[in-house]
Amino acid sequence: MTRIRVFLLITLLFLLVFIGLFFTVLPSIVDKQINSVTGLGLLPIDSKVTQLHEQLIIADLHADSLLWGRDLNEWGERGAVDFPRMRAGNHALQVFSAVTKVPRGININRNKDDSDNILLLALAQRWPWSTYNNLSERALYQASRLQDMAVNSKGDFQIITHRAGLKEFLQRRTTQPELVGGILAIEGAHALRGNMEYLKKFSAAGYRMMSPTHIVDNAVGGSAHGWIKGGLSDFGRQWVKAMNQACMIIDLAHSSKTVFEEVLDLTTHPVVVSHTGVKGTCDNNRNLSDTQLRQVAANEGLIGIGFWSLATCGDTPTDIAQAIKYAIGIAGIKHVALGSDFDGAVAVPFDSSGLIQLTQALKNEGLTSSQIKAVMGDNMLKFLLDNLGEESCYLAQVSAL
Ligand SMILES: [Zn+2]
Repeated sequence: MTRIRVFLLITLLFLLVFIGLFFTVLPSIVDKQINSVTGLGLLPIDSKVTQLHEQLIIADLHADSLLWGRDLNEWGERGAVDFPRMRAGNHALQVFSAVTKVPRGININRNKDDSDNILLLALAQRWPWSTYNNLSERALYQASRLQDMAVNSKGDFQIITHRAGLKEFLQRRTTQPELVGGILAIEGAHALRGNMEYLKKFSAAGYRMMSPTHIVDNAVGGSAHGWIKGGLSDFGRQWVKAMNQACMIIDLAHSSKTVFEEVLDLTTHPVVVSHTGVKGTCDNNRNLSDTQLRQVAANEGLIGIGFWSLATCGDTPTDIAQAIKYAIGIAGIKHVALGSDFDGAVAVPFDSSGLIQLTQALKNEGLTSSQIKAVMGDNMLKFLLDNLGEESCYLAQVSAL
């Protein structure tokens, strides 16, 4: 064998090993590293807090778990939320959000739309070919994954898609405490690819919430982390009307300041800010000002407080509780909820099974039991009972396809 042949053989072997690693262990290594559970600042739990925690119906406005190829029916060795951990943490309901595109070098200040990290993840996890250059297909694929997991849960996980379905879920939970639920959302309307027809397809796939933007500016409008950070485009104004008409909840997380205000002016429905911090405890470009907190309260909307360090400027349960307490002080108790950002490429102090840590931290901050009940889930449930549409609203979208 000539030297060249030996060299080619070795190169081929390296390539095969690399490809093997890329398709098998790489996604799980990345997932484990960037969706870590740190255990920092954990608190001793009082017996009274345990009693209170058991009475809560806990709901959370944002998790990005659908990105990571995990089977959420299994207790995960990585990441922060899945159905068994929800059961262990008395966590009833989770919004699962689809991420369809993020740039390389992602930061909270200024990002260009010139790269696509989700493509790598899609390739490594062997998503269908149709998802490789089509953001709408990426959203539809992530919805189909959650639908499959619901089927495989044998009735212990339910996707909630309309108001009566939520009532039925809450009723079933009184006799079936292992039942946990999910709601589908999309992070950034670039998933529409500038085509409003996709709103109907997303509705048919079970999506019930969408934000105008994610990390970069898009055809709807500016992101808080975008290059220009502008307002709504004409298409964006149409999008707000179409979302209202389609009984889809608008999520202003990640919106530029101008988009935030323009959507609040235009929308005829209350909005959420699904995962955010507050400038009052953590002053950075990711978080809401006091004025914005008041604007959401005036809209009868809901603010989900995040669990990660860019939201709280800390990394403990106490830091999260302090941000929640501050938001209540400005927006009022009815308008504050949880927006963990579990599995959103962030480190969190506890996972879904450890939510009692937050109950304890809120108690330590002086919140009453009824305030804790409201923030941990009741506010979100009431918001959804008021703002999810009836089934007929979504069926109308499907029949218009
Ligand atoms: Zn986000």
